[in-house]
Amino acid sequence: MDHFSRRKFIKSTVLMGAASMVGCNSTPEVDDAKIFAPPPANSPASTLVGKVPTGVLGKTGVTVPILSHGGGYELNNVMVARAFDLGINYFDVADCYLNGQSEAILGKVLEKQGKRKEAFVVTKNHPKQFKDLLVMVDQRLTSLRTDYLDLYFMHQLGDAEYPKECVDWPKSKELKEVVEALKKQKKIKFFGFSCHAGILPQALEAAAEGGFVDAIMLRYNFREVNSDALNRAIDKAKQANIGLIAMKTQGGRVSFQEKADAFKEKGFNQAQSTLKAVWADGRMDTIVSNMPSLQIVQENAMAALQKEISQTERQMLDDYAKATNHLVCHGCDHLCSSQVNSPVRIGDTLRYLMYHDNYEEYSRAKDLFGKLPLEAREAIFTTDFKMAEAACPYNLEIGKMMHKAAHKLA
Ligand code: SF4
Repeated sequence: MDHFSRRKFIKSTVLMGAASMVGCNSTPEVDDAKIFAPPPANSPASTLVGKVPTGVLGKTGVTVPILSHGGGYELNNVMVARAFDLGINYFDVADCYLNGQSEAILGKVLEKQGKRKEAFVVTKNHPKQFKDLLVMVDQRLTSLRTDYLDLYFMHQLGDAEYPKECVDWPKSKELKEVVEALKKQKKIKFFGFSCHAGILPQALEAAAEGGFVDAIMLRYNFREVNSDALNRAIDKAKQANIGLIAMKTQGGRVSFQEKADAFKEKGFNQAQSTLKAVWADGRMDTIVSNMPSLQIVQENAMAALQKEISQTERQMLDDYAKATNHLVCHGCDHLCSSQVNSPVRIGDTLRYLMYHDNYEEYSRAKDLFGKLPLEAREAIFTTDFKMAEAACPYNLEIGKMMHKAAHKLA
């Protein structure tokens, strides 16, 4: 698949995913004929041999591949089998991915292949209060056709659906008790949260302090190297031996393709280089990557097998970052939000704009924006963003982008 086809493929599957990511509570039927269909006759041969290198997921002590399968795209029997061939046994799903189907599909495939014990299964929920987790875990077990979860996450901690005080949840004694109860019942082996909101640095530090969070899935990519607060917090979490799982490693996509294509002629492979940059950082135990085709699984696995990033690749990635950094919000809104006397949520709003414009996840972006408090949405039109723009290290035109978000996502 050439770059253009890959781009078109990603675009079409993103659209399918986006259309089906709304309505997290439904339990749709899974199409068995589709999941267990043989690969199409014209599908490219999988030529790669070898196993993706492994690492240890922090204090869990579990050996995991450095490349893991994200569940934002539809998995099937063939893709899961190929992943196992390449040593990728970590599968990340959630109650809401693919309209609830991601868990059901993975559960059915693992059951049919008899591979549940070989798999490391991770899923997630948005609890409103701690005791919700007790019920939610049972639902996850049912959907996944299993009696235990390897790792269970509070999903996207800090998003609009959570109360403001959720930043302290990773050190809450009450939450710790719920987690211990779930572990005692042997329903979950490990516990943590995923986060890409502006509270990420504080949440990482709270987890390091609280001592009971086993692993965290966090936004981390080649664009984050300049974020001192995030890097300090990652160091603290690492010192506390919390397993760290990188997501959003591509740092924005699709609409930057033209920029990436300009580097391609020099041998730059955007997806592979961005993965290598995260592995080179050395603090992330694995990367969860959405790999919607056998070809992409193979390309990413190839990057893992030759994971050292060359100086030329690094230079091209740096140049690519410089050319695109001002186009995408990096989520460090402790820097800009403190500069506006207003209830607006800059980091969240601009992330939803990225889902809309870069990922083309239109419904999801609008849904999330709609969940922001009304005052946070309305204040966009009355806020002066000049001071925030002056504080943004990436020179984003925050005012313009916030207005664009309000118009597109309302
Ligand atoms: S607008 Fe700038 S400072 Fe604010 S979160 Fe985005 S990148 Fe960070």
